Formats: sequence, C-alpha cells, structure tokens
Amino acid sequence: MKTRYIAAYDTEKAGDCLAACKRIRAVHEQFGVSGTFFIVGKRLEEEGVKYRALLDTPLFEIASHTYSHIILRDHPFCGNAPANEARAREITLGKELVEQTFQRPCVGLRPGCGFHNALRGDPWLVQTVADAGYGYVSSLLWGPETTVPALLEKPFTYAEEGRPGLWELPGHGWHENLLKAHNLTVQARRILAWPSPFPEAVRLTPITTPEEEFALNKLFIDKAIELGLPYVSLIWHPWSLARFDPAMTMLRLTFAYVRELGMEATTYEAEWRRAKDEALA
Ligand SMILES: [Zn+2]
Repeated sequence: MKTRYIAAYDTEKAGDCLAACKRIRAVHEQFGVSGTFFIVGKRLEEEGVKYRALLDTPLFEIASHTYSHIILRDHPFCGNAPANEARAREITLGKELVEQTFQRPCVGLRPGCGFHNALRGDPWLVQTVADAGYGYVSSLLWGPETTVPALLEKPFTYAEEGRPGLWELPGHGWHENLLKAHNLTVQARRILAWPSPFPEAVRLTPITTPEEEFALNKLFIDKAIELGLPYVSLIWHPWSLARFDPAMTMLRLTFAYVRELGMEATTYEAEWRRAKDEALA
C-alpha cells in the first residue's frame, strides 16, 4: 500500500477564504498537486462566480462544507445541533449550491467542526446524508473525546447504520487553526488527550512559524505511511493559513515533501471511488 496525499480546505469565511484561495491555487499549480475544497453554501451564494473562476480546474474537487456551517451534531466546542429540519437543509442545500455553482456533481460532505465519532450513533443523520446523494462524508476530525490531534484513521462505511454505500473518509492531525490559537469565538481549551496518542506532535504553546507547522505535518505524513494508510489528509482552513503564513510557505514545504517522498496527490472524491472499487473487487 502506497499512501496517497490529499490537500483539503474547509472554506468558510466570507472574503478571507476567497482571497486565500488565490494564493493556495498558485501553489497547487506550481507543484501540480490536486486537492479538495469543502465550501460553505452561503459563500457560494455570495461569492460563487468568483469561486468558480478561481477553483474550477481539473486539479480540484469541489465538495460541501454544509449550507451555513451549522453544526450537525452536538459538539463540546462548537455548540448544539438544531432540529432535524434545519440539519437536513444544511446537508441538501449545501450540495445543491456546489452543483449549481460549479455545474458538476458534489459527492462529498465535510460537516462544520467534525466529530470524534464521525456520524456513528446518529442513524437519522447517516440516512439523511446518504439519501441526499452523497457518496462520502469526511466527519471524523477529532481524537478520542474531541481532542486533537485527530488520529490516523482509515476509511470505513456506514454499513452498521444500514448504509453500506456511504463512506467515511477521515481527516488527520491537528486542526491547524487551533495550533495557531486562531479561533477566538470558539474557545477550545480542553483539547489535548492524556496520555497522548501522539506525544511527539503535542505542542504546549501555539506555533509561530510555517516551518514549525511543516514539521508537525511531516510527523503525520511519515506516521501514516508507516501505518500503511491509503491516504493522509490534514485539516486546513484558507483564512487561517493566510493569516498565519500569507506567503504559503508551509504549503510549499509540505508539497515539496510530498513530491520528495514520491507520494501521489489525490482528492477525496478520487479516494472515495478507489475505496468503493476495492470493496467491490
Ligand atoms: Zn469549518
């Protein structure tokens, strides 16, 4: 098993994310690396024409980050989920806006914040996401009891919830915005597991340089390869990457490392198709 690499971006903040995506696209083109943008539907209502002009290239998958970033499950830092009707709207309208804006199918959903137990234990949510026509969800984004870093988990299906056709494709490592203490509205203070599953990747203070961020990325990439994961994908946000590192030095260092290791760069969509095909073979 040769571990692949997925660059992925939770694209959510008005104005800031769009501006950051210009810089991000340039680095992707420089390295010829593909990637996935999970975009909030409201941003596409407001800035859809600009997003399409910027990101509609064969290098990128465009997927949904819900309609308005309303949380789909109760979450210790991000608040409680609304009633089912509002949850369903987040799921279906987010997908529709990606499809209308980019004129291509949207097969993936990354819920706002993500969860430590993915969609498990919420059969209504599993069914609603599957019935909306998604092929995969990337919702497992935290370690045990909603800690960071997220563990290096492999894909699985929601067969136990009765939907074997819906895949979970987890994200890995730190939420980089937390590593930089960028979230002022969501105070995530109790975020480290102890004993730590990744002592070498635990920081006791926020990071201050792109090189420090790359060093942490490298740890997760190396470990994923060692564990034989099909892919590794870190949890990134355009607004936070640009605020910390406007020159996108961390992206360049990470993509150069991916190239140096001979890793194939891919998208969540392509990874989902591979997982499906391998399960059928
Ligand atoms: Zn988000």
